Amino acid sequence: MNIILMGLPGAGKGTQASEIIKKYPIPHISTGDMFRAAIKNGTALGNEAKSFMDKGELVPDEVTIGIVKERLAEEDAKKGFLLDGFPRTVEQAEALNDIMAESDRKIEAVVNIEVQEEELMNRLTGRRICEVCGTAYHLVFNPPKVEGICDLDGGKLYQREDDNPETVANRLSVNIKQTKPLLDFYKSEGVLKNIDGSRDIKDVTTDVESILTNL
Ligand code: AMP
Repeated sequence: MNIILMGLPGAGKGTQASEIIKKYPIPHISTGDMFRAAIKNGTALGNEAKSFMDKGELVPDEVTIGIVKERLAEEDAKKGFLLDGFPRTVEQAEALNDIMAESDRKIEAVVNIEVQEEELMNRLTGRRICEVCGTAYHLVFNPPKVEGICDLDGGKLYQREDDNPETVANRLSVNIKQTKPLLDFYKSEGVLKNIDGSRDIKDVTTDVESILTNL
C-alpha cells in the first residue's frame, strides 16, 4: 500500500495520517517531521532546511528528494508507506515515480484533503503541538483538557515557529501555487482521490478509509 496524503498546510493531513497508521501496518513518512527532527538534532541537513522553513519556503528539491529516497529504501517502507508533505512539486512527483519504478513499485492512491484558504488560516494560527509526542491540538477546534498541556502524556504544548500569521500566509500562497500542477499530474495518472476536509475529523477519516479499503 503506497499512499500519498495531500492537502494544504492545516488541511488535516497529520491527523488523518495517525488514523491510517492505527489501521494499517505502514510507516508514516512526513518530510516536515524529518526536517524538524534534523533541526532538533543539529545536523547539517537540519541547518540547511531551517533557513527555508523559517521563511515558509520549500526546501530545495535535491535535498528533499534525497532524504525521501533514503527513507523509502529502509526495510519498514518496503511493504508500503504513507507519505505526508511529499511530493510538493511536480519535480518531486516525477522523482518519486522514478524511485518507485526502480524497485517495481508504484503510487496507488493520492488522497487529497480539500479545505478553503480562509478556514486554513484560522486552523493554522491556533495550532499547538505536544513537545513530547507531536500530537496536534487547536486552541478553539480541538483544545487540550488542561491549557498548554498534552492530554496523552502531560507534555508541554508549543506553537510551531512557522505557524505565525505572516509565515502561514506565505506558506499557503507558496503551497497553492505549487499544488495545482501536482494535482493535475496525479489526476492524469488516474490515482487522485479528492475528499472534503472541511467536515468533522471522523467523517473525513471514514472517507479516507473507504478509499483505502477499495484499493
Ligand atoms: P510541513 O510540516 O509538511 O508543513 O512542512 C514544514 C516545512 O518543511 C515546509 O514549509 C517546508 O519548508 C519544509 N518541507 C516539508 N516537506 C517538504 C517538501 N516535500 N519539499 C520542500 N520542502 C518541504
